[in-house]
Amino acid sequence: MHKQFVVIGLGRFGTSVARTLSSLGHDVLAIDMKENAVQAIMNEVTHAVQADAREEENLRALGVRNFDVAVVAIGDDLQANILITLMLKEMGIEYVVAKAQTNLHGRVLEKVGADKIIYPEKDMGVRVAHNLVTANIMDFIELSPDYSIVEILTPYKFIGKSLGELNLRAKYGISVMAIKNGKKVEVAPGADARIQERDILVVVSSNKAIEKLPE
Ligand code: ADP
Repeated sequence: MHKQFVVIGLGRFGTSVARTLSSLGHDVLAIDMKENAVQAIMNEVTHAVQADAREEENLRALGVRNFDVAVVAIGDDLQANILITLMLKEMGIEYVVAKAQTNLHGRVLEKVGADKIIYPEKDMGVRVAHNLVTANIMDFIELSPDYSIVEILTPYKFIGKSLGELNLRAKYGISVMAIKNGKKVEVAPGADARIQERDILVVVSSNKAIEKLPE
């Protein structure tokens, strides 16, 4: 579904969120009060604007109220983070996601109406640990909060099938970059590459998709 997102605060987290949403085909308005942060992302999102989001007139002038989802990704300035979250909810934005530094900060955000509170470091740690124990994951490189390069032991059901038959990109949104078996590595395997027992697949995938793979 095509949605409109506004991302406020273009530090590492905000930039990564804005970029990923944009690459998934969504409209993204990215706001930061620092010129260089705005410049850095300008070509990758629908609009990038330099503005202080604490000023209500700025948010109004940018038509922020019409967006489906707002992400408040300001980290260090706690007061700005809370104030902006409050204003966005008062303006009537349906879904406001805010980044919290601590549990107490998260509780304040909840009180001012944030719909989802994110603790980036903590959440990622939990997710990685979860993935490591649930799927056959051997290694994990985070590309963004949502996408990773992952090495997985081939699920039992895949053995004997070709990549073409498995159609992992269409079925799971997973792209196979390489197939490893012992010392052998087949890079960029074609549709006719057949999965053997003890193959290790190196894939690019959303973290969600990986969780959906069979054991
Ligand atoms: P991270 O830890 O994800 O890198 P930071 O806290 O370092 O996050 O970055 C937050 C970003 O938010 C900075 O680029 C900063 O310029 C921006 N920012 C802070 N306050 C405001 C504000 N009132 N309006 C717009 N942008 C802001």
